[in-house]
Amino acid sequence: MKGYFVTGTDTDAGKTVLSALLCMALEADYFKPFQTGQSGQPGVDSDTATVARLANLGPDRLHPPAVNLPDPLSPAQAAARAGITLDIAAVALPETPRPLVVEGAGGALVPIAPGQDMAALMARLGLPVIVAARSGLGTVNHTLLTLEALRLRGLEVAGVALSGPPNPENRRDIERLGNVPVIVEIPRLDPLDHDSLKALLPALALPGAASDVTSDVIRWDREHVWHPFTQAKTAPVPIHLSRASGADLVAADGRRFVDLVSSWWVCAHGHAHPEVARAVARQAATLEQALFAEFTHEPAARLAHRLAELLPGDLERVFYSDNGSTAVEVALKMAHQYWRNQGRLERTRIAAFEGAYHGDTVGAMSVGRTSGFFTHFEPLTFGVDFLPYPSTWIADPEGDRKLAQALAVLENYFSVHHGTVAAVILEPLVQGASGMRMAPPAFVKAVAEMARKAGALVILDEVMTGFGRTGTMFACEQAQAQPDIVCLAKGLTAGFLPMAATVASNAVYEGFLGETFHRALAHGHSFTANPLGCAAALAGLELFGREDTLGRIARQQAVHRERLEDLLEHPKLVRHRALGCIGAVDVTGRGEGYDVDTGRRLKAFYMERGFFVRPMGDVFYFLPPSSVTPQQLHDAYDLLPQALEQCL
Ligand code: PLP
Repeated sequence: MKGYFVTGTDTDAGKTVLSALLCMALEADYFKPFQTGQSGQPGVDSDTATVARLANLGPDRLHPPAVNLPDPLSPAQAAARAGITLDIAAVALPETPRPLVVEGAGGALVPIAPGQDMAALMARLGLPVIVAARSGLGTVNHTLLTLEALRLRGLEVAGVALSGPPNPENRRDIERLGNVPVIVEIPRLDPLDHDSLKALLPALALPGAASDVTSDVIRWDREHVWHPFTQAKTAPVPIHLSRASGADLVAADGRRFVDLVSSWWVCAHGHAHPEVARAVARQAATLEQALFAEFTHEPAARLAHRLAELLPGDLERVFYSDNGSTAVEVALKMAHQYWRNQGRLERTRIAAFEGAYHGDTVGAMSVGRTSGFFTHFEPLTFGVDFLPYPSTWIADPEGDRKLAQALAVLENYFSVHHGTVAAVILEPLVQGASGMRMAPPAFVKAVAEMARKAGALVILDEVMTGFGRTGTMFACEQAQAQPDIVCLAKGLTAGFLPMAATVASNAVYEGFLGETFHRALAHGHSFTANPLGCAAALAGLELFGREDTLGRIARQQAVHRERLEDLLEHPKLVRHRALGCIGAVDVTGRGEGYDVDTGRRLKAFYMERGFFVRPMGDVFYFLPPSSVTPQQLHDAYDLLPQALEQCL
């Protein structure tokens, strides 16, 4: 039992008295993170002093507020008056062997700082919430609104406590309509003393200890779940996650991990961002899904319009699908059929780059065959021409030579196969899954120009690089490379829902127009353009402006650069690279490639210290969401020398 967070439907709804009651019942400590309206003058009772008096708690059971502000206002307004800005990231549960009762200030949506409210603090602290409400007129409405707001944010509500003259109708309605127990009715908040509060203890019906959910989850998982990219026989028992917010993943046992890989590179801004969560909830209650052949809807049309605005050139035709692999399948099928529709049956060759990874479906595997992930499936894949990829890094003396060589091969390829290449597919600037292998913008630009000169379509796979990862909204912007088709997924929905978009130029789209279905693109999925995914994407795109996401990523890039340059001489590290939110380095000493156990050891080291990393064999990298702070990144880099010392 870790304790409870006490909030209210309003100020003066009985939070402090309820907190005192809970402290007595649970023999808990008390903590009020944000105290406002306390002048510090003698005779002015703080909430902490009130709880101490009512519950008879000694100083060892009282934890001082993280912030104490004199004006009786919301924390955000009181802080503004005091000339400071608060940050919930600075608040942590105090260390104590006893349960904790944490009291909020005001209600659930009281602002603390820009983009942070009391509910965000509750999410951060991870305690079940008890709501204090008055028993009078209007209580049912206020209480239900508070419950809805809390649940919409994924918070666990353990109960409601009513204060004021007992009102059986209110109690019944709140329990029935709010699906929540009323754990106590406190007839009067004032005057109260220790003894009169103690007399209420028998009436307090605290929710029973939650069943051992974790052991059920792990048992069901072990019995029935087949995990991706996992050898179930040797893999450790997975960690039961119960929630996440910002850059943090929170396990059911209370452990926290800073997600330094954005959960497979999807979570662009941070986990469970409340604005995206609200947009999804609103959409779910409006139009959750509809087949996307005869119908359209606002989220899909608006998102297509927005993507067309953001993408360079005339990439204006958005084809929705479900994940990065399907975005690539669609792009390949588009390119193939485009030429057939033009009667150019000889244009069938597809070119890709050595080391590329484009996903796990059969077409995507075919263009990613050299990544080394698909040996079992090679017989299923189709023929693809693989061209050299000039992988480079900070202070690479061979960079120019490799670039020139790769371009020479490319030039030769297009002259030999002139007129028969349907498309070239490339991950611009960074090959992600094959080890954060970076290539210069000049390479991407030259590939696009040469392919265009040879009449081939240019497909840029921005599934990983899109949505700010490399420092610009799309990597192709830095390379000034104009694709005919671009593949988007992962960060598209701010990492909330599986959705992808394959965006084509008008010229490609027009190549499918005609009088018969035969010329149309015969491709689609049940969930194409799912409104929830589109709503999440629109909300995520809004955040780029409001939260200056690209500015945050620029600051991350500065940290990566600075720290990796400091590590240039480290004897165990080679090929240092930094771009946007990505910092990567290869670790020598235990062999090379995906199968060496360097990554597993480093992962264990970091997880013990509260950071989630997932190296790819000998490739160690960070790719955090934009909400990670420069300090968290510095902390993660600070650990690296010790990790290498201990793990290699
Ligand atoms: N393309 C690239 C560049 C990727 O990095 C990935 C996944 O990592 C994919 C495609 C496949 O995306 P998904 O895993 O959503 O199918």
